[in-house]
Amino acid sequence: MNVFSIAMRTRFRGITVREGVLIRGEVGWGEWSPFLDYTDPAEVRPWLAAAKESAVLGWPTPLRDRVPVNVTVPVVPPEKAQEIVRNGGCRTAKVKVGESTLAEDQARLEAVRDALGPDGRIRIDVNGLWDVDHAVEAIGLLDRAAGGLEYVEQPVASVEDLAVVRRRVDVPIAADESIRRAEDPYRVKALEAADIAVLKVQPLGGVRACLEIAERIGLPVVVSSALETSVGIAAGVALAAALPELPHACGLATVQLLTDDVVVEPLLPVDGFLRVTHPVVDEVALERLAATPDRVAHWKARRLAVDDLGS
Ligand SMILES: [Mg+2]
Repeated sequence: MNVFSIAMRTRFRGITVREGVLIRGEVGWGEWSPFLDYTDPAEVRPWLAAAKESAVLGWPTPLRDRVPVNVTVPVVPPEKAQEIVRNGGCRTAKVKVGESTLAEDQARLEAVRDALGPDGRIRIDVNGLWDVDHAVEAIGLLDRAAGGLEYVEQPVASVEDLAVVRRRVDVPIAADESIRRAEDPYRVKALEAADIAVLKVQPLGGVRACLEIAERIGLPVVVSSALETSVGIAAGVALAAALPELPHACGLATVQLLTDDVVVEPLLPVDGFLRVTHPVVDEVALERLAATPDRVAHWKARRLAVDDLGS
């Protein structure tokens, strides 16, 4: 079992090390890397289906050969935020807010606007940290600090609250954490809780599963990563490349958040785009990044638990 362990450059989503399994199939490689706090085998099964699709079935025909991506700005001081945006080469920036004070968030957004220029797009991601009243106030303030926001991602945790916030602000709302399982997008749609759906290939069970969801919910989709290596990211690019419409940059430029990668040519943005590709895993990197035996044992047990569910 090819279990990798890669340190993160910056603590992200509360994690400092990214682990997962690489699966080799007839058409290429797939990545199975459900986060470690997903402990229910039924919850990590779609992640495995996505990996198998990549390795065994391949992806639908792309409609474009590259997809626009955003640069991600973690909770960092303004000068660092500017440096990240300037080095990122993207026309869209996604800025993490909510973990720091509102004043710090404002300063970070002003710095990002400064680095991006008036034509760039800025979206913020709150990861559900605010309550409704605070969200309404903060979104207004941060919209001004940013010189206009493209959208706010998951300002509050629950889908019900998301629907309430959406009715009280003018900035479009995107649902991310509210969409974790395949049935979630339909609930977001039914409650009119969001203007945009953030879809991730692994948790939703693969590229084809996501295309079906996108068609049925009829909302603009932003394809995002689950902090995968380039193998998992390529599946996200395949989804973005196959969507009939792609009005927003994707949240797929995240391999920079890892200190290393498993492929020969990492999927890094060029001029704000990621190319459509089926990456080749580097055997040397696999050895370099191999997880310790106790972690391999953990992943084997995890895999067995999913297999025990049957089909
Ligand atoms: Mg998010």
